[in-house]
Amino acid sequence: MVRFSIEQSLFAALSLALIVVAGCARPLYVQTAGTVGPLRWEAVDLEPGRRTVDGKEVDVYDFTLVVHETRGVRMTFTNVWSTVYGGGWMGGGQHSEKLEVPPFCELHLPFSSNGFKAPLWYVTLRGNDEEDRPVELKIPVALPPLPLQPGISAESAKGSVSGPAITEHAGPAQGASLSQSLTVSERGRLQVVDDAFNPSVFSPFFASDETRKVASLSGVTVIFDPAIPAALHRGLRNMAGGLVSGSLRLNSTLTVPLEVAEPAAISGTIRFTYVALDPRPQACARMVLIETTNSVSEALQSWTGVAMFQQHGFHLTPGWTEREQRALYAVLGRIPEHWLSQIEGLTFKRDSIHPGNLAGEYRSDTHTITMYDTAFPAFDVRFGAANRTIAAIAHELGHAFDAFALRQAAERYQTSLAKFAQGLDGYKQASNSKPSRIAPAAEKLLETQRITAIRNMEAARSLSGYRWYRTPVKFDVVEAEDAGANGFRRVAGLDGSIPITKYAEKSWSEYFAECFSLYVIDAELLESLRPNIYAYFAKQFPR
Ligand SMILES: [Zn+2]
Repeated sequence: MVRFSIEQSLFAALSLALIVVAGCARPLYVQTAGTVGPLRWEAVDLEPGRRTVDGKEVDVYDFTLVVHETRGVRMTFTNVWSTVYGGGWMGGGQHSEKLEVPPFCELHLPFSSNGFKAPLWYVTLRGNDEEDRPVELKIPVALPPLPLQPGISAESAKGSVSGPAITEHAGPAQGASLSQSLTVSERGRLQVVDDAFNPSVFSPFFASDETRKVASLSGVTVIFDPAIPAALHRGLRNMAGGLVSGSLRLNSTLTVPLEVAEPAAISGTIRFTYVALDPRPQACARMVLIETTNSVSEALQSWTGVAMFQQHGFHLTPGWTEREQRALYAVLGRIPEHWLSQIEGLTFKRDSIHPGNLAGEYRSDTHTITMYDTAFPAFDVRFGAANRTIAAIAHELGHAFDAFALRQAAERYQTSLAKFAQGLDGYKQASNSKPSRIAPAAEKLLETQRITAIRNMEAARSLSGYRWYRTPVKFDVVEAEDAGANGFRRVAGLDGSIPITKYAEKSWSEYFAECFSLYVIDAELLESLRPNIYAYFAKQFPR
């Protein structure tokens, strides 16, 4: 089974008010980096442009102020305000959110002005240090006019725009990817976010017009994958701020599809990872890693799927739309042919709503997977590299593979019961007598066969460590007493105590199904986060 929770409030509310002032500016100097007290700061993601405000085209200037704590002192800012000057005009804004900046961490504050070509900002941070001493720091940011104006040296302006982000001093191992940037134990703590939410909420973080949404980010170090174009940094940094206050819990990783129009222009998937780091000298204890990722192709020719259905005796009940069938074929298309013998004869049902709001369910007694409406959200939600629908179907297939040995034992048991009954009938017919006694030797043989079938049934184990338990009337599936020796549980233990998703915390069979799903759709992510589980799957289900 797999469940989705639709998250209503993905982002914590944030207000950053700015007074719009019409003005015309000529910069006296350019300053986009510096040091103030214990803080080193840098203005990044400089984005000057033109925008229509109240029917009038004006100059706009967006940027992000990144402040880095350098002395190992925790700071808490409770009041941030700014004043903007340019061309004899003045404006300002106030930011009242509480911002924590632990030792060696960063604070990312998005700013924007209307009506200035090259604004001079004074950003004042007021709060306390860890000994409760008041702190007030004023940061002067003199933004360069872009495109370059005569009189400003190309060198200085360029250097300030594309210079290395402040994160270069942050301490953690530098690298482009999750595997390169994080240690095994750091990755072992990560969970893949399995919440479902509408990703259309992300576009405003990239906007420069009135739809623009901003979110600050504090108490972390931000690392960008070098493959991400600089033009996207402002939006992604912004988005990270929103995510960290919502779905992206500490020690989790989330992949989102992005379709952002010009000027940012992106169409692809981005992975955000928010992680608590192992202690490192002079480094922030938390990091946000922003990477590009590959996504699973959902295109598979329908005929390939149909042929696969015919070859393996799969059944598709009515109710699947063409799009949904394509998703199903896409999942099956990712499963190597030689694994499929274990799930032959599987029925794929489609139903509207599960009483427990599940997205899908596998029943081993009927060997049926039922997918519900929640598995087919109207919006594109990701789980690792794949669409959430594909992940949910792969999850249910995981249960089917997990239960293979149990199902096989049950089938043999049914066969032996049938043989037993048949044997008795056969004897009756052969003897052609009234209520007859079966020959003791024949009865003994049948009874021995029946007991062997029961023993085999009780000896069978699912891959995640469950077994059949015989009650007077039926067999139930229970935790096996010897589950400690179970291969999957053992390797999961080697990878630490944190299940791969929140949902995987539910039970060992759900943990197995979640890992199976990742193994099918994003093996690279599984290998990076849980290397021992990955190795187990690679051995159990070789490609
Ligand atoms: Zn499940």
